[in-house]
Amino acid sequence: MEQRLKKIMEKYQIIDSHLHLGVLGYMNILGDPDGSMLKLMEKYGLDYAVFSHHAALASTTFGWEKTIEALGKDSKLYAYIVFNPNHGDFGMKLLEENIGKERFSGVKIHPSWHRCYPADARYKRFWEYAHQNKLVVLSHSWNPDVANPDQKYSDPFLLADIAKKYRDITLILAHGGGRGAYLYKVLDILKENKNIYVDFAGDILLPGLLEDYVDAIGSKRILFGTDMPWSDIRYHLLWIEGSEIDEKDKRNIFGLNAKRLFKLT
Ligand SMILES: [Zn+2]
Repeated sequence: MEQRLKKIMEKYQIIDSHLHLGVLGYMNILGDPDGSMLKLMEKYGLDYAVFSHHAALASTTFGWEKTIEALGKDSKLYAYIVFNPNHGDFGMKLLEENIGKERFSGVKIHPSWHRCYPADARYKRFWEYAHQNKLVVLSHSWNPDVANPDQKYSDPFLLADIAKKYRDITLILAHGGGRGAYLYKVLDILKENKNIYVDFAGDILLPGLLEDYVDAIGSKRILFGTDMPWSDIRYHLLWIEGSEIDEKDKRNIFGLNAKRLFKLT
């Protein structure tokens, strides 16, 4: 397996558009989480990564400090500014002052974590601002019919309604829109809305899924996202490399799409 991984690293530009830095209590990440992540990035040949910091998902001011601190650790790191609608004034200030500067490349939202529907009034000025400024927004998305009731806030169909209204936003649906039937239902959203992208961050690596997506929507709106440290990058590398899709599609997915979208040089 090591040989195969090495070949993938040599052959492709690889950009992880969905990973996390920092500690998260219940994940029991020991030692130096950012240092460990940078080592993994080096080991598996990531050219760049766009991260959201665990601390920034949980807390706005402390999370912002940790995001800045992490950005200083390596020039391969680019950041999502996390927008928490419950602290909207602070979030809007961060966006207005920082987005597009330095290595702040996009915005991460997590409607489930922040328990706020995408169409809630607390998100309104954010969507308007994102539309006016043509921002890239990565949203957690999941099917609502699962044990965790908070997933209802991140239903990809609710997010699609927003992307239909605010056409200049590029919206990335994380985790292929959820699990089970949703992985395929989401294809209808992607076919209808050219401003919606998708990643398969996490452990959503069903056999044949990537082939079906490329057949249905092409490869240009599929991003390589691992969700590290929640999942193991090796699965993701081997899953894409082993898929029966064209070489050009693999190049797009591994890195070229993210390079274009986040204007990485
Ligand atoms: Zn994630």
